Amino acid sequence: MSLINGERETRDQLTGALTTTVFVQRIEELRTAHPGEPYTFVYILIPNFKSINRGFGYVSGNQFLQRFTELLEDCFAGQMVARESSHHFMVLDRDHSSAETLELLRECQAAVNRMKGGEHLLLNAGLVSGRLGELGEGDIYQNIDRARYACSYAERSHSRQFVVYGSDVQRRIDFELYLMREFFPAMERGDIQPFYQPEIRVLTEQCCGYEALARWVDPQYGLIAPDAFIPLLERELLIPQLDLHMIRQVCRDIRRNLDGGVITVPVSVNLSRVDFQVLDIFEEVEKIREEFNVPRYYLNIEITESAIAEGSVYMAPVIDRFRQVGYQVWMDDFGSGYSSLNTLQDFNFDVLKIDMGFLKKFRVNPKTSVIIREIVNLAKRMGLGSLAEGVETREQLEFLKECGCEKVQGYLFSKPLRVDRSDASGIPILMEEERCIPREKREESRYYKRIADVNFLSSSPMEEGLYLTANGLPIVIIEVIGGKRVNFLYSNDAYRRILRAAGIDDLEAANVRGNEENIPENHQYLELAARAEEIERVRGDILINGVIFKTDMMFLARKDDRAAFLNVVQNLSPNFNNAQVEAMSLAQEYILTEYFRVDLFNDDGTVVNVYLDADQSRITDEIDRAAPAVEQYASLYIRADEAGDFCDFYRIDTVLDRVRQIGEKHLTRFFHSADSTHNDELQCYTITPFRMGEKWKFLSTCRRLK
Ligand code: C2E
Ligand code: CA
Ligand code: CA
Repeated sequence: MSLINGERETRDQLTGALTTTVFVQRIEELRTAHPGEPYTFVYILIPNFKSINRGFGYVSGNQFLQRFTELLEDCFAGQMVARESSHHFMVLDRDHSSAETLELLRECQAAVNRMKGGEHLLLNAGLVSGRLGELGEGDIYQNIDRARYACSYAERSHSRQFVVYGSDVQRRIDFELYLMREFFPAMERGDIQPFYQPEIRVLTEQCCGYEALARWVDPQYGLIAPDAFIPLLERELLIPQLDLHMIRQVCRDIRRNLDGGVITVPVSVNLSRVDFQVLDIFEEVEKIREEFNVPRYYLNIEITESAIAEGSVYMAPVIDRFRQVGYQVWMDDFGSGYSSLNTLQDFNFDVLKIDMGFLKKFRVNPKTSVIIREIVNLAKRMGLGSLAEGVETREQLEFLKECGCEKVQGYLFSKPLRVDRSDASGIPILMEEERCIPREKREESRYYKRIADVNFLSSSPMEEGLYLTANGLPIVIIEVIGGKRVNFLYSNDAYRRILRAAGIDDLEAANVRGNEENIPENHQYLELAARAEEIERVRGDILINGVIFKTDMMFLARKDDRAAFLNVVQNLSPNFNNAQVEAMSLAQEYILTEYFRVDLFNDDGTVVNVYLDADQSRITDEIDRAAPAVEQYASLYIRADEAGDFCDFYRIDTVLDRVRQIGEKHLTRFFHSADSTHNDELQCYTITPFRMGEKWKFLSTCRRLK
């Protein structure tokens, strides 16, 4: 563009568009020269322009702005085009109705998308129409403001690309002005207060925390939702005042709860990106917390993924500071943005709050359940807690439970609730439905956290670090209560299938049995559990209605008289039909009543215990070499004068020679037992060699003669 004399100051150096000052001056000249003429004033913005600078660098960004200016001048041929700042433009259209101007804007949009680098760019615009002669002193700037507002309204609405200024927009402006004016007085009057939404632990359906959500109870407008004032306060950089005001009230409520001696659960508060930009948010939160003497355990910090993605560098050290002193920091709306995984990689969190957008699509989009499951898996593998937001149906809850999601929040349990503070001396109690949801104690929270850390989706939920998805291993978590009762806390679908094969319909039915004393499998559970708690992990067979559950049991946690155990059940051949399974179980049952112990010796010198009744210890858990295991066994269970013979009898390397010598298929010998329950009983020990492929195996069975 060639600049004629004097144009240098009137035109923007980069793009050659008019400057704002000159643009306004020209309009002033026009309104006296052509007072009757209609005009449409257009304010245009490219909201995601920054992506060009970021993606291609400033030089490309500048070139883009130059080409965009030319494009505007082409589309709005003969009209005045000005650049207000960076990627904000203005046009005075004097030749078209506002409907036609809208059409031109749509053409601009299409042209931008044809430009190199402009494929993904979106325009927003605000329009104000009128007659030039009506523009009085100061009206031009006011109209720029109105168009700018209409434009930012379009930018925020996500559904409207171009907005024509009218009474609705003006109402919105007035409302926002009202909110700005009333913000501080409203806080002072106590009109802005936290409502509390319960967070529910999936395994127990108890309330294990609350999220504090801001509500503005206005004398004129009634209940104002945060969507109306939070983005506004963020734009105006006033959000720290709100957030600290909220934290102060939350701390006050927690203190009153603690003083009142009621069960008190942690409360999550929301922080904005701006909080990290304009003040030392860590110090401010600490000050308030100390003022009310609230332990950090009771306050969790929530930060949305998008706030972090935009904020980046300066937030990481502050987040770490919160965590170092003992706060939990939760990532809010996980999965809602473009950079969820980057954020997860670059920042440290304690809990992922899964964005409610996923659950909204849960029923209609089958991919969604895969994504949710993988987020839970991801959280567990990174050692993070998981909470799903927006749970509205039982179906959603059941699905999340199957995945092992730790906590949920949503209308299924409760909406955010008002606190009754009317009685100044009393403890604030939560109103309405909350009374039906029991609260979780602090010790319980630790106990269930340990249980929730188990990754039900892993193929090796007992080890750390190995990975395979939803492999269908049957998993059940049992609790032993008072050393007497068995409570089934969690099971996955694969487990419930085997349970049904054993004639037990569901977990509820299993729990009915678990509560009774004379059900045989309960003794087996209790015995295994007692040993698991001692040595952490044991293997054993549990016989339920004639079906063997080969169980790997791991101790998880204990709280008072309650202990939890993870059980992974070996899936017996799924190809068997029912009759076969039944016959097999009967055969097994016979073997197990006949023998009190079955072991398998391998020709590499190792031994595995196959079956064991309740009276002996396994031994092979600690010692898998045959010789020392046999010695240990002899010293525990064989009368001392026969112990040496016993060890010789169990020398596996000579078994084949010995059977050949006597021309039999197995070796049998009697020994006297020496343990307290079966002292001096005669017992029959048999070793049967057999070939499995290339290898020899030796089956040892032990029988009591009584
Ligand atoms: P958020 O932190 O994601 O909060 C969850 C929002 O989902 C809340 O809306 C809650 O009322 C709503 N919700 C809860 N359960 C369900 C459900 O089952 N279904 C559906 N459809 N919605 C559910 P709310 O209270 O309107 O808050 C909106 C957002 O405002 C919050 O989203 C949070 O980002 C922000 N916010 C609220 N209070 C504060 C605050 O004190 N400070 C800051 N910085 N932001 C806040
Ligand atoms: Ca939140
Ligand atoms: Ca959220």
